[in-house]
Amino acid sequence: ETISIKAGEQVYPVHVGFGVIGKLQSFLQSQFPKLTSVLIITDETVGALYLKDLIQELGLDTVHTKIVPAGEKAKTFDVYYDCLSYALEKRLDRKSIILSFGGGAVGDLAGFVAASFMRGIPFIQIPTTILAHDSAVGGKVAINHPLGKNMIGAFYQPVAVFYDLHFLTSLPPAELRSGFAEVIKHALISDSSFYNWLVENITRLEDIPAPSMVEFLTKGIQVKAGVVEVDEKESGIRAHLNFGHTLGHAIEAEMGYGAITHGEAVTIGMVFALQLSERFHKFDFNRREFIQWVKHLGYQTNLPKGLSVSKLLERMKQDKKSFGQTIHYVLLSEVGQPYVRELGDDFLLENLGIFIKTGGL
Ligand code: NAD
Ligand code: ZN
Repeated sequence: ETISIKAGEQVYPVHVGFGVIGKLQSFLQSQFPKLTSVLIITDETVGALYLKDLIQELGLDTVHTKIVPAGEKAKTFDVYYDCLSYALEKRLDRKSIILSFGGGAVGDLAGFVAASFMRGIPFIQIPTTILAHDSAVGGKVAINHPLGKNMIGAFYQPVAVFYDLHFLTSLPPAELRSGFAEVIKHALISDSSFYNWLVENITRLEDIPAPSMVEFLTKGIQVKAGVVEVDEKESGIRAHLNFGHTLGHAIEAEMGYGAITHGEAVTIGMVFALQLSERFHKFDFNRREFIQWVKHLGYQTNLPKGLSVSKLLERMKQDKKSFGQTIHYVLLSEVGQPYVRELGDDFLLENLGIFIKTGGL
């Protein structure tokens, strides 16, 4: 499968499937005939597993590689600076290319290095997590600041994405869940047949049959691409991608990053957003079935014990997607019909209380 992404003036391909990495070499030869050097940025885990394979695929005499720490530790100013220093030492120039090889953290880091090195050099995303079906598409790249996640970054599109699903076979269960949560989100905000298909076909996350994997990742990317196409710079409907994220981000921040995966926190946020949605709309959605399904897949569906509701509310207000001090919440009026609604503190506090008691049921 190849999906074409339009973002502003740019169009780029996303190749999805088992074995698509085999197309990388000819892509580079045809699109970058004057290529001076290649820098792979990867993390220690992905590097240990697959770096040799990737280098072999490239078939070049020299390839530079920068191995960074796994996870959020990659998205620091120090690591970013190291990558730039390395690129300068190796004399990369504007005819060089950066390959980002890893999950969303590596993609965000490497994309920001590419965006800022010599005012921007091309980069290719080679994602290796389910989550990266989301993060590798859309052009948001960033590193973190101690005062906030993703606070330093850019909108910068890759020249191509090669999403070879072979790499996904080594993902641990928590990372499978983290990424699959974004697939669920893409289904809930886009269309009920995609959502129903998921509930019927995906009953465990380990050993997902290859055709199913291709199916839902392709659909998920199409949903993301559709949103990015009409709203590259996040002024309007791109906010819908934030479904489940307002509370999800607050949970991640309150627990400390790494204590729970992004998607696992977002899933709790989605259960809550569905509860809120039903306060305004009696839509045809079986929340009980949803909760049972995600529990069976291994997700937690209620707030982790010990979190303070008022602190969560404060975090939601600090979210950079909140405007001023009011919380703009993404709700559904139907499956596939997201919209943004302003919600007051008292209403949210009351509903968080109900959520804790009922678990969203
Ligand atoms: P990640 O890169 O931290 O990967 C998660 C973990 O899985 C890491 O420990 C990594 O080493 C490991 N891993 C990666 N591929 C593996 C493989 N094939 N086999 C075994 N282990 C593997 O992050 P992620 O979960 O992919 O993404 C989360 C990051 O993405 C966050 O930093 C988030 O801010 C960012 N994000 C960005 C966007 C965007 O639009 N730019 C969207 C969503 C999330
Ligand atoms: Zn997310």
